[in-house]
Amino acid sequence: MKKIIVIPGDGIGQEITASAVTVLKQVDAKFNIGLEFETRDAGGTSYEKFGTPLTDEALDACKRADGVLFGAVGGKKWDSLPVHLRPEKAIFGLRKGLGLFANLRPTKVYPELINSSPLKPELVGGSDLLIVRELVGGIYFGPRCESETKDGVEQAWDTEIYSVPEIERITRLAFETAKLRRGKVTSVDKANVLAASRLWRKVVVDVAKDFPDVELNHLYVDNAAMQLVLNPKQFDVIVTNNIFGDILSDEAAVIGGSIGLMPSASIGELTSLYEPIHGSAPDIAGKGIANPMGTILSAAMLLRYSLKADDAAKAIERAIDRTLADGYRTADIFTDGFKRVGTDEVTDIICKNL
Ligand code: NAD
Repeated sequence: MKKIIVIPGDGIGQEITASAVTVLKQVDAKFNIGLEFETRDAGGTSYEKFGTPLTDEALDACKRADGVLFGAVGGKKWDSLPVHLRPEKAIFGLRKGLGLFANLRPTKVYPELINSSPLKPELVGGSDLLIVRELVGGIYFGPRCESETKDGVEQAWDTEIYSVPEIERITRLAFETAKLRRGKVTSVDKANVLAASRLWRKVVVDVAKDFPDVELNHLYVDNAAMQLVLNPKQFDVIVTNNIFGDILSDEAAVIGGSIGLMPSASIGELTSLYEPIHGSAPDIAGKGIANPMGTILSAAMLLRYSLKADDAAKAIERAIDRTLADGYRTADIFTDGFKRVGTDEVTDIICKNL
């Protein structure tokens, strides 16, 4: 059996993870993967029950699982809590506890939603790229100084540090992932200025020798930011450090046109965690109108990357394509002339299309 821990979290997290589990059960009946589900709390929901955003028991259950499906956490109700009790702490607890060292964010432009993209259709049509971001190193975790005085002037500083094993690990993942896709890796750095980026580039070139079938090119981050909006179709897999990945993955996310459709994976040493990129959307929670597609596509990533069930993952992706092609739209992507559906209804349609 393959155990999946489902963490609905807060707000629409409850509704969209329920949809994804329905779809996973349906796909399991077809592909005989042997899925088994257990639910745990996190975020505000966990705080209400246990007085903490993430219990040790929930984290331990995730460590023993084959994959974790996460909804979203957060809500106004908990915004005034002390920082260590805030819902977002659950995400950091899971990242640290599971050793989630890489974040994978695909951006795909669906032909049916091309007009929702802020970019011209002829530029974005056919774009299908994946950003692989290093998640536990670099300037976000390096030594820092909040304030010091030098020659009578106040200053602050942060430090970008990367070791060879850290770069090797993320680069290998990017190349392995590219092999499952179109076989191209673009490494993004700032090697013309930063020492850590020069080491990054050297290690990437070394690792690439083990993947002769994968094409490699390098871009400086400023150029990469431009190329993403000028010609996103040129990219397959982009691998980059923590800070550049943070910025570029948000830039890439808007190309697709709807955050309700965007999945993500955080790859861990013990277990990997899969979640949509959006938050808990308290403004629409409980109304039955949330778009579950980002979470369902995250479940497809779980099947692909944690359970190596690529056929089942593809079946889910095709079912979503079909649902969109047939004109079904949740409120967030609805425009005149299409069929407006709620969360449960669109879930049923996706299941029928499997
Ligand atoms: P949000 O992503 O929750 O919502 C932004 C807007 O997009 C809202 O109008 C919302 O209704 C809409 N939206 C989001 N997902 C949707 C979906 N699946 N279907 C239809 N519409 C959708 O961002 P926010 O409003 O800035 O944050 C709300 C809460 O979520 C905050 O507490 C924030 O801290 C938290 N948050 C959590 C995560 C996470 O758990 N990983 C990520 C981002 C924000």
